[in-house]
Amino acid sequence: MNRVRILTLNAALPALDYRVPDGMQVQPGSIVLAPLGPRQITGIVWEADRLETGDVPDSKLRPLADVMPVPPLSTPLRRLIEWTADYYCAPLSAVARMVISSGGALNGPTTMTEYRLSGGMPERMTPQREAAIDALQGEQATIRELAGIAGVSEGVLRGLVNQGVIEPVSVAIDRLFPTAKPDFDVPALSPDQREVTDRLVEAVAARKFAPFLLDGVTGSGKTETYFEAMAQAIRMGRQVLVLLPEIALTENFLIRFEQRFGAAPVLWHSSLKSTERRRAWRAISEGTAQVVVGARSALFLPYADLGLIVVDEAHEVSFKQDDGVRYNARDVSVMRARFEGFPVVLASATPALESLQMAESGIYEKLDLPSRFGGAQLPHIDTINLGEEPPERGRWLAPRLVAALEDRLAKGEQSLLFLNRRGYAPLTLCRHCGFRFQCPNCSAWLVEHRFSQRLACHHCGHETAPPDACPECGEPDCLVACGPGVERIADEVAELLPEARVAIATSDTLNSPERAAQFIHEAEQCAIDVIVGTQLVTKGFHFPELTLVGVVDADLGLDGGDLRAGERTYQQIVQVAGRAGRGSKPGEVLIQTRHPDAPVIAALAAGDRDAFYAAETEARRHARAPPFGRWAAIIISSEGDAEARQAANRLDDARPHIDDLMILGPAPAPLAMLRGRYRYRFLINARRNVEVQKIIMAWLATQQFAPGVRVGVDIDPYSFV
Ligand code: ADP
Ligand code: ZN
Repeated sequence: MNRVRILTLNAALPALDYRVPDGMQVQPGSIVLAPLGPRQITGIVWEADRLETGDVPDSKLRPLADVMPVPPLSTPLRRLIEWTADYYCAPLSAVARMVISSGGALNGPTTMTEYRLSGGMPERMTPQREAAIDALQGEQATIRELAGIAGVSEGVLRGLVNQGVIEPVSVAIDRLFPTAKPDFDVPALSPDQREVTDRLVEAVAARKFAPFLLDGVTGSGKTETYFEAMAQAIRMGRQVLVLLPEIALTENFLIRFEQRFGAAPVLWHSSLKSTERRRAWRAISEGTAQVVVGARSALFLPYADLGLIVVDEAHEVSFKQDDGVRYNARDVSVMRARFEGFPVVLASATPALESLQMAESGIYEKLDLPSRFGGAQLPHIDTINLGEEPPERGRWLAPRLVAALEDRLAKGEQSLLFLNRRGYAPLTLCRHCGFRFQCPNCSAWLVEHRFSQRLACHHCGHETAPPDACPECGEPDCLVACGPGVERIADEVAELLPEARVAIATSDTLNSPERAAQFIHEAEQCAIDVIVGTQLVTKGFHFPELTLVGVVDADLGLDGGDLRAGERTYQQIVQVAGRAGRGSKPGEVLIQTRHPDAPVIAALAAGDRDAFYAAETEARRHARAPPFGRWAAIIISSEGDAEARQAANRLDDARPHIDDLMILGPAPAPLAMLRGRYRYRFLINARRNVEVQKIIMAWLATQQFAPGVRVGVDIDPYSFV
């Protein structure tokens, strides 16, 4: 009797046993189709002794339906799935779904139908059809994707297909990706870079687990250096994964990659079309995708032969996923490298305290690039105390910063103003009655976006047009904007320096690869005098003529009660400061603040990184925060406030009493309502040696939650909302 156990991709299902029909070949890791009731489900064959399920006699087993024509998931990858599920208190199936993230790819090599405009016109034109035809110029995708692009229903497009206005095109999915050439354009390295490179290349060649912390100041050539390690992996015929914190940074990376390797890498991110996704997934699983560049979701793909992972800007918060499986791609990268036996490089100019601590305790090997490449100097940093040098009434830029902007403009150099706030103003209120515009789904203000003439919630995406009169008191023309966003700063610059060419760089304006590429091009050509941007422009960019960076509000990130607020502010400002003076001209950074004596700001102004890390380390040790202790959060949510509160209170009644473990709450979460759900939160703080996950899982298992209640566990949380 050939009996197998499968892990399903549905968290509501247990592991299930099946019979393997004669002639069918399966092994642990095989992806299979199995009958369940009248349906067929996808599952992964697993070692039976690692998954529990009920006892079903052999005679009752149904046969597997099929084996998918893709390579089985390797043993180390299955162990990684288990580790991730255990560590982050997530269902195995939820982690497995991140591996099998292209359903289409499982069907084997094939062609697929996409659609595009044929050039013909419909017999009867309707406004909807006209709008669809306009929107679809030059597009080719599935009907569903086209419907999304055009903002019409699939039915409208099917109608156009029937009339021949939209035509099907057969696309071969498994076209090979272009070959990266490891020796296409090898740079001459500086002695520091050479030393780091040699060590990395040696580690790649050794095919063994080796975690590195590549700690190099901005502009030191971290990218150039790890490119050589990648070249070594490519020469050995192995695959490389590069994780970037933002899709918006990919464009810049792609340009440099092509210059170095003579071909584009394979891209992976959440907005790939399904054909692209499927093609990439198959190439990754078969080993023909040599270098994959992606967002954190690329980490869980079934690489055939991974030989190196690079996590660039490894300190970035965006590597932490905040819903579903709440994993940190930086930490899981290290685990993947360990399970599969290859080096991993965490690159950063401002490493996370946790990573530095790992290096200090000898677990990570630290590689340093202490100076900028080519003799460029790190910029001079100075603070502007807003208490002593305030901006004019109704303005946000202090006179000294304005004078510096004028000076750069006169010299034909570039400036960058950094404010981590999209839109025009973070709060709109009625001058007459004090009414504040709030999101109906979240406990958050609506942010005014003047360009798009919208009030928008940055949490759930709710949008509404600003009304002419106050919805509360009916007074017309009484709405006032409170506080600045980047759009408001850009307006101020335009008023103060009418001849300056100003560009806003945020996820609203650089929302496609084309727009990002155009922005980079214009900034490089110096067709922009002043860039006003959010954290999107703090990393990766290299604009030689940029010599002034102004931080509009350094205090912004410091309040909010987030345990990493100080670290994050430090990292952001060092990163954005790192954009200044990368070419031959020296850079200057002006930081506007009300608290020039706050440890973070003082350390920045003094250029004293060690002082900052020392102070931060002490604060964390004192708070028993990572890396000295552990935090975890449990969020209970429901559409009904009473239901959520009751569930939280009942869980509270069952709270465990354990030494070295402190449970705070339940209390309304800082975002007490999010996307229409009421939220209550427990915070758990423990010593490092306490097995928090086991305790939490046992605690939650004491409860039967109502169907409308959701329970989220966040281990090592980054977001404390
Ligand atoms: P980092 O990633 O550390 O900020 P980059 O890798 O972006 O630094 O390097 C900064 C700039 O210096 C880039 O324009 C890069 O092309 C250039 N550069 C760095 N090292 C070299 C080198 N060895 N040869 C030529 N250019 C280099
Ligand atoms: Zn909202």
